[in-house]
Amino acid sequence: MFDKILVANRGEIALRVIRAAREMGISTVAVHSTADADAMHVRMADESVCIGPPPSPQSYLSMPAIISACEITGAQAIHPGYGFLSENANFVQAVEDHGLTFIGPTAEHIRIMGDKITAIETMKALGVPCVPGSDGGVPDLETARRLAADIGYPVIIKATAGGGGRGMKVANSPDEMESAFRTARAEAKAAFGNDEVYIEKYLTTPRHIEIQVFGDGKGHAVHLGERDCSLQRRHQKILEEAPGPAISAEERDRIGRICAEAVAKINYIGAGTIEFLYENGEFYFIEMNTRLQVEHPVTEAIFGVDLVREQIRVAEGLPMSFTQDELEISGHAIEVRINAERLPDFTPCPGTITAYHAPGGLGVRMDSALYDGYAIPPYYDSLIGKLIVHGRDRAEAVARLRRALSELIVDGVDTTIPLFHALLDEPDILEGTYNIHWLEKWLAENLPG
Ligand code: ADP
Repeated sequence: MFDKILVANRGEIALRVIRAAREMGISTVAVHSTADADAMHVRMADESVCIGPPPSPQSYLSMPAIISACEITGAQAIHPGYGFLSENANFVQAVEDHGLTFIGPTAEHIRIMGDKITAIETMKALGVPCVPGSDGGVPDLETARRLAADIGYPVIIKATAGGGGRGMKVANSPDEMESAFRTARAEAKAAFGNDEVYIEKYLTTPRHIEIQVFGDGKGHAVHLGERDCSLQRRHQKILEEAPGPAISAEERDRIGRICAEAVAKINYIGAGTIEFLYENGEFYFIEMNTRLQVEHPVTEAIFGVDLVREQIRVAEGLPMSFTQDELEISGHAIEVRINAERLPDFTPCPGTITAYHAPGGLGVRMDSALYDGYAIPPYYDSLIGKLIVHGRDRAEAVARLRRALSELIVDGVDTTIPLFHALLDEPDILEGTYNIHWLEKWLAENLPG
């Protein structure tokens, strides 16, 4: 059993991990940059170590600083949270080389899923449905044209090394192919130093549906249903819900089983998310995230499980505390992301919080590291809180979200809270009938930048 773990992250996710550890009787070490000396995760942990100056490459991304902090404090394991070093295979290797435990998947699994073509090939071989497309990289324009004709237009050209929605271009017809192919390659080269691209069928009105999986690293794995994360701006998720309003129990069962079997076959350990585009009753794999997701609380709410506790358990070599048969969905959950951003452009808006009041009551969870007087530093992500509500059904969850939002006070900086008040007046949101393009269109019409 671990006595002490180090949390290599900040903000709400650091608190999330500290809370799970404390309930398990494990003491915690926070790490922080000089900009975060007064941050809530530092106050809440049992111990803390300053690991460097404000810029992340010199602190939260500094492997030597984090591993030294473990050695100084005697922490036996590291939980990476999400972002920062959570999907860095070299970090996992370094952690293990120092005789420490990484609370997450193996370096090998992170490497496989970090390269898009390898990830798709691996998933295809494991029986996971993928988007029709090129088998691997596309070397030149002629090949691209030939493949696109076979697949059928529209197609999307994507960077093998891609991430964050960069290096992607759509070609609607053969005459758009040359420019799309050249632009995607140039963008990929500029953004990732690697101009390899591949081609997929472009789905015009899909939903983003992701399956939560969990493995024990010994050939057992389960799925915890789906989350619908279709409400996105520039590929950034804004609101997530579970179960997905468009997914039937049969569909969940079918795709969930395929995913659980796939990760069991590769002896996957810990939490993972298999992301799909979903259109006309079909699922198409796009990528796998080998970590805890920001939106994991909606899954926790409907299944009544603690995913961070499970991550720590399997990292210790213990079995998962539930089987597939014991996992049952109860009700509906919705999460909204509260960002310190100024509308309509979503410009980051760091500053000092002059008043903070978190909502409460039945079925309400507020994951946030805010407090009265906290100065949000300008160096990091603008996510300052997640409001998660749970109801017996979707209508109750929506009503509860509206009620909880009305209680939430974050003064001193601009936030995305007004956006959610406005969205809850929209019939498509109330009915759950939206796809991945809905929000961008709504923003263009209602909040022109
Ligand atoms: P990244 O890693 O850069 O975020 P993804 O492969 O996850 O790239 O794709 C990001 C987003 O781009 C998806 O959520 C979806 O909105 C859009 N997208 C990607 N592939 C397709 C496709 N084949 N058809 C339609 N949209 C796509």
